[in-house]
Amino acid sequence: MEKRTELYRGKAKSVYTTDDPDRLILLFRNDTSAFDGKKIEQLDRKGMVNNRFNAFIMQKLEAAGIPTQFDSLVSDTECLVKKLDMIPVECVVRNYAAGSLVKRLGIEEGQALAPPTFELFLKDDAKGDPFINVSHVVTFGWATAAQIERMQALTLKVNDVLKQLFDDAGLMLVDFKLEFGVFKGEIVLGDEFSPDGCRLWDKTTGKKMDKDRFRQGLGGVIEAYEEVAQRLGVPLA
Ligand code: ADP
Ligand code: UDP
Repeated sequence: MEKRTELYRGKAKSVYTTDDPDRLILLFRNDTSAFDGKKIEQLDRKGMVNNRFNAFIMQKLEAAGIPTQFDSLVSDTECLVKKLDMIPVECVVRNYAAGSLVKRLGIEEGQALAPPTFELFLKDDAKGDPFINVSHVVTFGWATAAQIERMQALTLKVNDVLKQLFDDAGLMLVDFKLEFGVFKGEIVLGDEFSPDGCRLWDKTTGKKMDKDRFRQGLGGVIEAYEEVAQRLGVPLA
């Protein structure tokens, strides 16, 4: 597979075309951002850790029957994926209260949420990724009602699979964000799943093992990501 031109440079990944019009290469950089890109730092090894972490998770999800973008690892920091027409909507599931839910509704951090909540945010940094609902998605044409229903069903299925996987590794899957796109008419999971886009707390100590360490300036960010990877059995370089 030949890597060609840079199609898009995001906050954490760069996207390249390939000699196959249906495939892209995602390059995971060390750049780490928070607060809609207002805080940015380089963290050594992050590109490699997130690329390998994402490959491991995407393959677990594919095995559980969830259609994903993932094709293969290309290098320590790159993978080959299906080229999706991305839907600009972030799907968030929460098993415990944290982050924006705590701020918005005044719920106590850590409160168990049963059943888990499902939320939508518009992927638009300039607008601060606003909270939206299904009616907005359909009216403004970001996705059809059938597509958003499928995205919700797939997101909840991902939650069932990953909650168990992380629980077995001694971790609480607090919440996470997914992005989907369309490939040959089908809704497919895109972007990435890594500690950058979820919250993971140690079941015994409550230690935060995800990007909140970066957001809150707690230090030991990559050390925590590597520990999560090691507990799950993700092979790192
Ligand atoms: P951001 O755009 O939020 O800064 P990234 O740095 O992660 O995020 O950039 C990756 C970009 O690539 C995102 O805009 C994401 O929607 C897009 N993307 C991820 N997976 C695919 C895919 N399989 N096909 C097309 N675009 C993708
Ligand atoms: N999330 C993300 N990208 C975003 C917004 C949220 O990956 O642009 C993830 C975040 O890491 C967390 C979950 O989605 O795991 C819920 O985030 P929340 O709405 O609480 O927002 P936050 O307060 O973290 O910005």
